[in-house]
Amino acid sequence: MTTTDMETKSFEADVARLLHMMVHSVYSERDVFLRELISNAADACEKLRYEAIARPELLGDDPKPRITVVADAENKRLSIEDNGIGMNGAEMTEALGTIARSGTRAFMERLEAARGGEKAELVGQFGVGFYSAFMVAEKVEVVSRPAGSEEAWRWTSDGKGSYSVGPAKPEDAPQRGTRVVLHLMEDAVSYTEPYRLERLVKSHSGHVPVPVSLVDKSG
Ligand code: ADP
Ligand code: MG
Repeated sequence: MTTTDMETKSFEADVARLLHMMVHSVYSERDVFLRELISNAADACEKLRYEAIARPELLGDDPKPRITVVADAENKRLSIEDNGIGMNGAEMTEALGTIARSGTRAFMERLEAARGGEKAELVGQFGVGFYSAFMVAEKVEVVSRPAGSEEAWRWTSDGKGSYSVGPAKPEDAPQRGTRVVLHLMEDAVSYTEPYRLERLVKSHSGHVPVPVSLVDKSG
């Protein structure tokens, strides 16, 4: 597999606008990125549970849903991994390159009209979704293997207008599900501190129906 298999595409104009607004206006509410990524991971586990009612073989030898947050301070990386439903390349393009959700559109309109402190409040209230990753990451990689599939896929972006999507080596992907790797900005490296992560997970993701474990790679 070579990198030439990767296809570069432009974000939908609305996504590019949302990314720009997030990165530039809501610094004080950056913590929400973790809540959003954990909630997506939990949703993916829930989707798999539902699919597996009709197709139990999708669960294979790994029936228990799980979310793992891996902190790697040395490499300035934070990963959020789940063993949920996963995504193929086309699903990544659809889910991570466009704004399909009407809620996000309403949020953007309010964010554009808001000022200063109001902006931060809005970000706290709304589910700002996957793109909040770019509040703390200069590059985001998503590697995924859909349940029941031998093939793996990769999506990467620096959040500046375009993204690349294409096949990945299966050994670079989770056995099943999705790994979101955040290449942290210099001023966001403290999100790899175990105590900070633990506090964030407890306070923002305590209600999540899937167990979340924290792994400190530097330890
Ligand atoms: P929402 O969760 O409200 O749909 P997001 O912006 O948080 O919006 O995520 C967009 C979409 O990306 C999700 O609906 C889902 O299809 C896909 N997605 C994001 N994270 C994951 C994941 N960990 N596993 C599978 N799909 C995901
Ligand atoms: Mg979400």
